[in-house]
Amino acid sequence: MTVLEGEQLTKRFGGIVAVDDVSFAIDRGETVGLIGPNGAGKSTLFRLISGVQEPNEGTVYLDGNDITGLSPHEICHRGLVRTHQIVRPFETLTLVENAAVGAEFGGRDVDDPEERAHEVLEFVGLDEMAHTTPDELSVGALKRLEIARALATDPEVLLFDEVAGGLDTEETEAIVDLIGDIGDQGKTVFLIDHVMRALMSVSERVFVLDNGSLIASGTPDEIQNDRRVIEAYLGE
Ligand code: ADP
Ligand code: MG
Repeated sequence: MTVLEGEQLTKRFGGIVAVDDVSFAIDRGETVGLIGPNGAGKSTLFRLISGVQEPNEGTVYLDGNDITGLSPHEICHRGLVRTHQIVRPFETLTLVENAAVGAEFGGRDVDDPEERAHEVLEFVGLDEMAHTTPDELSVGALKRLEIARALATDPEVLLFDEVAGGLDTEETEAIVDLIGDIGDQGKTVFLIDHVMRALMSVSERVFVLDNGSLIASGTPDEIQNDRRVIEAYLGE
């Protein structure tokens, strides 16, 4: 059953067509990867879905409801949250306060934001540092805090934009494991990664964007052997 659907989405910036007539559908509980060269339109597509930018054309459906043009807050309230490519925690708040803000922002019947905050910090392996501030965290731990803040909103659908970007192998593996655990909980995950290898190991299906257009979709195996995909990457 489809939980998230994009129908003929287009986003232009002046003469640039960042997202060009993109249609897709993702089933509830699926983990889907989105790859493509730099500038392909991946982050823009996520911004259209999460309400940060409005498409020039096209429609986004969540649970069958048109959410196009709703605010990120309203979309979060309906159960879809995204993480940011560049993480920006509240520097003066502790980790538990950062996560609690997520729980409150989500507005999804989280009884006790602080309790929820501890739960999600525990889940990402940061609860021991709950009362420290983000400046004490490594890059990998900051990414896990970003995931915790997203989880605190009690989402059904999570969009991760390059959540493993800039991490070393060990940190990347920790994030990949975490995304696998989130998928195992029955959540729907849509994730962008520029590094194909990490994403391929957790994704059931992969979409490929090139120049704003969806040029391929399939299992990780199919995608890795797709000539158009290989060409799009070699042409970088
Ligand atoms: P990706 O995430 O795949 O690297 P982006 O979605 O960031 O790609 O960008 C797609 C294209 O849209 C690029 O050519 C980029 O320069 C352009 N673009 C993205 N955001 C803006 C913006 N706010 N104003 C102008 N051009 C933009
Ligand atoms: Mg991007």
